[in-house]
Amino acid sequence: MGELVVGDWFGKAVVDASTTMLTEPFVHDFVRANMWHLRGRDADLLVDTGIGICPLAPEIDTPAGKPLIVVATHIHLDHVGSLHEFPLRMGPKMSAARFDDMDDAVTYAYMFHNLDGAVSKLPAPDWKAANYRIPPAPLTRVLDEGDVVDLGDRQFRVLHLPGHSPDSIALFDEADGRFFSGDAIYDSWLIDDLADSNKADYRRTMQRLLDLPIRIGHGGHGPSFDGARMREIATGYLRRNGGI
Ligand SMILES: [Zn+2]
Repeated sequence: MGELVVGDWFGKAVVDASTTMLTEPFVHDFVRANMWHLRGRDADLLVDTGIGICPLAPEIDTPAGKPLIVVATHIHLDHVGSLHEFPLRMGPKMSAARFDDMDDAVTYAYMFHNLDGAVSKLPAPDWKAANYRIPPAPLTRVLDEGDVVDLGDRQFRVLHLPGHSPDSIALFDEADGRFFSGDAIYDSWLIDDLADSNKADYRRTMQRLLDLPIRIGHGGHGPSFDGARMREIATGYLRRNGGI
């Protein structure tokens, strides 16, 4: 992956000819997520939308008239903050109704209100973490296991991979082996102790991922990983949580 180029708020890195990674370097690393912009033939894809403190839409350079499909991998604050800015909003069936209200208790937005060092740079002089809210972003299409997100020249299969959260979904291009995994799996410490996490589900997800033939994985946090590294992460989780 190319070097992270940091602008006023967002950082961007070129992954390959069709893919850019975006992140928010001035947001506390606990809620600093990766966003992925993939250019397809008939439509572009944006996976996750960050925490939503600064407008994200102007950062996504899609040709005029070309649809931008935005997929939320799950309804946690660091993945859905800017979803409301986009017209084509897709997300998990399991939490679909909650995108209509973006309840703080469901998104965990309340955690950000009291987070020490929530941001390392103020987005505006009078900005306060206590005023942080995520606007509702009703889904325009609901995604469930087996559904397909089609960009014309590539198709992504939807996998439902609960554990980190009950609604976690991921996108897998079966032809190319590219995997957008959200927080189902990523190359950093896996969070399985939130109120809506479920370790038994997470174990089943890790078992399933052991057999997924990915070429490259782009997670919600941490660096990208190949298939061998993903199996290492999954095996490590299974070992730490009751054996394989
Ligand atoms: Zn999450």
